[in-house]
Amino acid sequence: MDDGFRGLSLTNTLTRSKAEFRPRDWRIGGVAEADRRVRMYVCGPTVYDFAHIGNARPVIVFDVLFRLLRHLYGEAVVVYARNITDVDDKINARAVRDHPALPLNEAIARVTQGTTAQFHKDVAALGCLPPTHEPRATAFVTPRADGLPDMVTMIETLIARGHAYPAGGEVLFDVHSMPAYGALSHRKLDEQQAGARVAVEAHKRNAADFVLWKLSSDEEPGWDSPWGRGRPGWHIECSVMSAAYLGEVFDIHGGGLDLIFPHHENEIAQSCCAHGTEEMAEVWMHNGFLQVEGRKMSKSEGNFVTIADVLETEKVGGRRWPGEAVRLLMMKTHYREPIDFTLAKLEEAVRELDRWERLARAAGTVEPGVADEAFLAALSDDLAISAAIARIHQLFDAGDVPGALASLSLLGIHPIREAVLDAGLEARIAERLERLKAKDFAAADAIRAELTEQGIMLKDGKDPISGERVTTWELKR
Ligand code: AMP
Ligand code: ZN
Repeated sequence: MDDGFRGLSLTNTLTRSKAEFRPRDWRIGGVAEADRRVRMYVCGPTVYDFAHIGNARPVIVFDVLFRLLRHLYGEAVVVYARNITDVDDKINARAVRDHPALPLNEAIARVTQGTTAQFHKDVAALGCLPPTHEPRATAFVTPRADGLPDMVTMIETLIARGHAYPAGGEVLFDVHSMPAYGALSHRKLDEQQAGARVAVEAHKRNAADFVLWKLSSDEEPGWDSPWGRGRPGWHIECSVMSAAYLGEVFDIHGGGLDLIFPHHENEIAQSCCAHGTEEMAEVWMHNGFLQVEGRKMSKSEGNFVTIADVLETEKVGGRRWPGEAVRLLMMKTHYREPIDFTLAKLEEAVRELDRWERLARAAGTVEPGVADEAFLAALSDDLAISAAIARIHQLFDAGDVPGALASLSLLGIHPIREAVLDAGLEARIAERLERLKAKDFAAADAIRAELTEQGIMLKDGKDPISGERVTTWELKR
């Protein structure tokens, strides 16, 4: 009997332990083999500003897991959803500040579209595959034509089931209505209240009740709802969008460890109470935090670094760094450990990539073979990256360059680029230009993403004489 175990073990924040991973569709029975899926949700960015280098960490960590799952279960089997939070008071504030002359809706659209485009560019340069679904919160506020879940309906359900109540211009989740509240963060409600420094706001039943919906003033963005024109709280969007693409209960839910409480705790409360389920996701995974040069990153400390600062400007160490070096730096620390992001580590990552490239060239091998078993076993042990990378060094040292390159490629690292050049780079660029002409932007973007993943950066310009679009390329690193 195939119970879905492929050698992968993961540490689960919910149980505080490591366990063998068996996807639900293999376990629950009655799901036809062709319909079985592995489902993962990761909380995505709030698009109000450039993503900082700490935000890159969950994107890279869960990209490695996505790639490993695709390798173990098949590409078409793994469904990965990562949301874009495009409604948030920080976005409103930024819109008013940056585009004071525009109507608010337009100003907000400018901020969220520009920031989302920059985020896509950043994470593609870091070698991350696009997720299967990337829903935007604003598309899931009110009932949808396609019948997928939406926030207003989920909030109505929570009220009808006695888990939420309107009060003081808000709709609040009643945490005492859920006996299991606090299971993920291992906090008991009584302890939370005893320790709470904030006075209970008068309209709340319990200090820990959190906002599902709040009314908007005329100057704030809003949607019509049974409770008046308003906007959703942050937590409800992930409950809705994960249900939309992965179902009421799914396999893996991830994010940075700062999200365990309150965000993920509240997602669980909303989803379980709205759906009447015991759980929302089976495995909860959290990446450790990143600091910069030994200190917590903050604007006031002067060590706040965006992804674009590192990749596109010379602000960090006086040069632009290859995305692949940043990726390798991040991967070299186990995902649950804290990382100190330093110039010295960036330099070390570049040296390591160069060394691998030299070894491969010296061996005359540029084609990856099959990923090495010992490497896979290490990576499958809760992404034990140090052992996995140590194995890659061993493979190079033993002269198994195809095995080393295939293993690295599974990590999204490609030290040798000739393969893609031979495989008709010019043809891919020409095809992308055709797609752009045909306004098939999704296909054009997919080609760009595919090439970016292989270290080829495309640059669009105009031919000064004909005015036609021309695309040039450069090898990153
Ligand atoms: P935010 O936009 O702040 O909600 O963060 C987006 C994602 O980045 C979340 O998964 C956070 O946990 C994660 N994150 C934010 N700051 C850091 C950091 N310094 N190190 C690692 N992950 C972070
Ligand atoms: Zn979330």
